[in-house]
Amino acid sequence: MRITGIGVGRGIAVGAVLRMAEPIAEPVDSPRTGDAAAERARLLAALAETAAELAARAALVDGDARDVLEAQSLMAQDPTVIDDAAARIEAGQSAERAVFDAFGAYRRMLEGMGGLMAERAADLDDVCRRTVARLSGVGVPEVPASDRPFVLVAHDLAPADTAALDLDKVLAIVTEAGGPTSHTAILAKQRRLPAIVGAAGCGGLADGQVVVVDAPAGLVVADPSIAEVDGARARGSVAAAPCAPTPGALADGTRVPLLANLGDATDAPAAVALGAEGVGLLRTEFLYLESQAAPSVEAQTAHYAEAFRPFAGRRVIVRVLDTGADKQLAFLGHEHEENPALGRRGLRALREHEGVLRDQLEALVAARDQTGVELAVMAPMVADADETEYFVALARSFGIASVGITAEVPSSAVLADQLAPLVDFISIGTNDLTQYALAADRMLGTVAAYQDPWHPAVLRLVRLVGQAGAEAGVPVGVCGEAAGDPLLAVVLVGLGATELSMSPALLGEVRAELGAHTLAEARELAALAVGARSAAEARAVVEAELSRRSARS
Ligand code: PEP
Ligand code: MG
Repeated sequence: MRITGIGVGRGIAVGAVLRMAEPIAEPVDSPRTGDAAAERARLLAALAETAAELAARAALVDGDARDVLEAQSLMAQDPTVIDDAAARIEAGQSAERAVFDAFGAYRRMLEGMGGLMAERAADLDDVCRRTVARLSGVGVPEVPASDRPFVLVAHDLAPADTAALDLDKVLAIVTEAGGPTSHTAILAKQRRLPAIVGAAGCGGLADGQVVVVDAPAGLVVADPSIAEVDGARARGSVAAAPCAPTPGALADGTRVPLLANLGDATDAPAAVALGAEGVGLLRTEFLYLESQAAPSVEAQTAHYAEAFRPFAGRRVIVRVLDTGADKQLAFLGHEHEENPALGRRGLRALREHEGVLRDQLEALVAARDQTGVELAVMAPMVADADETEYFVALARSFGIASVGITAEVPSSAVLADQLAPLVDFISIGTNDLTQYALAADRMLGTVAAYQDPWHPAVLRLVRLVGQAGAEAGVPVGVCGEAAGDPLLAVVLVGLGATELSMSPALLGEVRAELGAHTLAEARELAALAVGARSAAEARAVVEAELSRRSARS
């Protein structure tokens, strides 16, 4: 049996299946039997225990996993849910049903907001599930324990489960639900665990059944042949082979600087240790999301200086504030929008609040002067030459020597020949470029399959930017998730990308893959990929060509 889904990471694993217990059933909607005050007390105790359990799990992990668990702990204490559930108890419901319905209402509200908020609905479901289990006196389905390594198969995995997985035991995960940007996928990637999400049909796998989980191919093969197991093991060990953090280069010596995507200053030292040659994307939104008012120039300077310090003497590209869509900020005057991903995002919002942008540029320059980095800045969501000229002139007026744009709105790629001569560099944001080129909300699980940067439409847009950059003599980077997919990274270079920026954990695999191809080979692979009819076909023709080459050598 072969089951397809969305592969996360580059790993390949072979092992026996162990299934997670089915999710807790919806509590029956029968009227409450006990007294309202006692029922309310039971509710509060269950929520408090759930919050404490999630906070305790958060304390055991770091990074994204900790953030997710802490946020879930807060969800269990959210006054909106508590008040709503209490009112439902007052109106005659049991605590189980009341909390289930209150979380359900909250979930619908998040879904209505779209984007990242909707994605967080799954995290909310887990908090609800834990609370209902506590109230009903049954255990929450946990990851099964085993003495031997196994492949975990589940309908869905809550972040709390994924964060706590014992990596000595769990070889890979396969889930029926989830998309490429669900927390399960993000945490699996962070923990370098091969995963297939959105694997419809994995419910048919039985405990003990042997499977090959091939994340790069997005494939689960049940009851594989010996040849399939040997092939998977061989490819798995190549993918896992370590590679010294040397500067990024192709096999013929063509340099392709490998840079880090950072979301927070605390990630910077680890990025340097993993061989990041600089920063290709410093996302700055998070600093702002934490505050009700725009952060002061001083507070921003301190934060940027912390992120810059480990990169003294090297290039650091900072993206100015990218809000709107799922990241709404009151002080930028955001209002409800029917299609927020198509709304006042990025530079569009900043241009209307130029004071916020000016403060940020001032703080960046101050942090540059304190730390001695080579500062570069770029604007998100730039659509055309007018917006490009506006940003470049403003940033240069602050004495910033390197000013660029993010190519993530398809119009900027189509017009790249007009824009490249106006800037010092272009960085392609393939996450948004894919969502806009394929008209598929990147946060929506139901259209997750469209969010594939291998799509020839996306690759052709990348090619336009690559060609324009080469003609204007302007570097073209890629800072979307695509740059961290080793094989796609080679194709991107073949399309004209001159540097790649990615999550630091992915640098090693990309470095190794680039080193296996010359520029001429990368261009041949790129030509095959852009001629394909779909994302799957593009990936397949590139893989087939590589197999042909390795059979010849
Ligand atoms: C992108 O769109 O590819 C990108 C790098 O930016 P973000 O994911 O922050 O929108
Ligand atoms: Mg973007």
